[in-house]
Amino acid sequence: MQKVKLHIKKNDMVIVTKGREKGKSGKVLRVLPDKGMAIVEKLNFVKRHAKPSQQIRQGGIIEKEAPLTLANLMLLCSRCNKPVRTGRKQLEDGKSVRICKKCGDILDK
Ligand SMILES: [Zn+2]
Repeated sequence: MQKVKLHIKKNDMVIVTKGREKGKSGKVLRVLPDKGMAIVEKLNFVKRHAKPSQQIRQGGIIEKEAPLTLANLMLLCSRCNKPVRTGRKQLEDGKSVRICKKCGDILDK
């Protein structure tokens, strides 16, 4: 099995490039690698009508972040202050890190 190389990781700052939340940015809360999606803080909220159940004591409307497709997310480079493409670079100790293709800054800190 080939491991999927993800360009986005938990706690990254990303910007949405397509869809309803286009142009908005937020922090990645969770990556769902097998689905190719990520949950971004305060983005793509969906309202759900919840019926009282074992899990939820009270019924009503709950708001929850729905996952966004990774392909529609781009990493924000803190130095460029804009969405950038990422590359990879091997450090002297053999560790592979993500870099900003624009300014060359290391994104994995
Ligand atoms: Zn940059």
